[in-house]
Amino acid sequence: MTRSRAFLRCPHCDTPSVTRTSVMHSKLLRESVQQCRNALCGHTFSAYTEIVRTHTRSACPRGDVDLPVSTYAERSALSEKAEKQSSAIRKARQ
Ligand SMILES: [Zn+2]
Repeated sequence: MTRSRAFLRCPHCDTPSVTRTSVMHSKLLRESVQQCRNALCGHTFSAYTEIVRTHTRSACPRGDVDLPVSTYAERSALSEKAEKQSSAIRKARQ
């Protein structure tokens, strides 16, 4: 079984947070209340999750969802950044 990655980490202590509740503002924007799992920190905060672009087009598109399609360069830059962050997290845990 693979270890799941935290959706969001506390900006103060970098501990994974848990989603306590969320509200959908639109099909593309959700606001959630996050709580840090570090009992010594206790930070509770709000976060927005926004769908901002398409990487692979939907096979069942909706007419009211209008998202820009990412370019190859954007996808490559995002993949490279994600790999660097994952690598940094793995090194910090060792
Ligand atoms: Zn914290």
